[in-house]
Amino acid sequence: MQELKSLTHWSWFMLDDEYFLEVKRRVYSALDDSIMQKGVQRGMASFLSNLTENLGHEHVLQLAGEVKEFKRHSISNMAELLKQAVDSIQRNGVAAYIAKDKDDAKSIIKKLTDDDRIIVKSKSMVAEEIGLRNYLISLGKEVWETDLGEFIIQLRGDKPAQMVAPSLHVPREEVARLLSDFFKVDFGKDDLKGMVDAVRNFLREKIAKADTGITGANAISAREGALLTVENEGNIRLTMTLPKKHIVLSSIEKIVPTTTDALKVCLAQSYYAGYTKPTYISLTSTPSGTGDIEKVMVRPAQGSREMHVVLLDNGRSLASSSEFSDMLRCIKCGACQMVCPSYAVMGPSWGGKVYTAAIGLVWTAITESIDEAESLSYFCLSCDACNEVCPVGIDVSGLIKTLRKKGSSNLMNAEGLG
Ligand code: SF4
Repeated sequence: MQELKSLTHWSWFMLDDEYFLEVKRRVYSALDDSIMQKGVQRGMASFLSNLTENLGHEHVLQLAGEVKEFKRHSISNMAELLKQAVDSIQRNGVAAYIAKDKDDAKSIIKKLTDDDRIIVKSKSMVAEEIGLRNYLISLGKEVWETDLGEFIIQLRGDKPAQMVAPSLHVPREEVARLLSDFFKVDFGKDDLKGMVDAVRNFLREKIAKADTGITGANAISAREGALLTVENEGNIRLTMTLPKKHIVLSSIEKIVPTTTDALKVCLAQSYYAGYTKPTYISLTSTPSGTGDIEKVMVRPAQGSREMHVVLLDNGRSLASSSEFSDMLRCIKCGACQMVCPSYAVMGPSWGGKVYTAAIGLVWTAITESIDEAESLSYFCLSCDACNEVCPVGIDVSGLIKTLRKKGSSNLMNAEGLG
């Protein structure tokens, strides 16, 4: 029995075991959680209206088509692009590290931040994947999330609900209660400006005092070794430039051939995340410097003094030659999560421990294990809404079916029926 459980949890439909009870608990508590549903459904409604407007523009559709093509090529050539990117990053005078798994990434970042006291970071699903914030806190560091949504998640001790909008499941009433407690100020639920101002003032002070700023990267160019980020808040720019050290933690499937391609990924991600245009796209390739005196480059200038890039594999290389390879094209826009009917009622309770909804289960299969992902896949209704909205043409619901098939064949083999 124990052996069977370690292979698959497919059997949870039939067994009254601990895992089945945990899944039941998660689902029932989500179905009862009207606060969470209010947040998710309000967010989904605004997203749908914005995305519909964006998809009315021919250039958005054309951009998605281009991204789909070069991402397909990039994933087929992932190993070569990784090597090229590492060479380019090092040529730029930046230290590059390939982390084979979560522990490897954490130990690299531990060494890089050993003497640091305050660390600020921007929103990053890769950082969530390795549990970076709590790990650094466990080492005695003072760590602050600088993205408002992620800051809310940090205060709640929660996990991100969605790839682009981590606090999607927290409605304004709950945000007001949380921030009123934290700042000891009585915010009304509609005082959005007051709440944003309070967080801005608090975090600006922390960023100014921080030793290290950790950011992710939405796309990385192999040829130029440039790291691109897309955002609206301005927190990423501050996080990467004000502290003396800048660490970029990203993952190997984000590498595309050129900086122009990387820029296209950022734009497509923003449009499909439901924004009409991103407020900031930042390109970083070296620590700060100036050539203003006789064109001689002197470093640092106003920005970071040193820069390090950690590229996480954690199952991606293996996945590139598996049935899940298409998932590596994902640009993490989160559009598929926002049109999912199961997500509308279960919110972040549906999905893996880090990545949520149907797409989250496939990412969980890649970065954790099929065991972790497969049982909750039965909540996918196979409505295909996710496939219709995906800018890079990933058959998300097809990958969910693959996940189920792998789970059931594991079970059959374990029972000697395969
Ligand atoms: S699967 Fe497609 S829609 Fe979903 S997050 Fe990835 S790119 Fe976006």
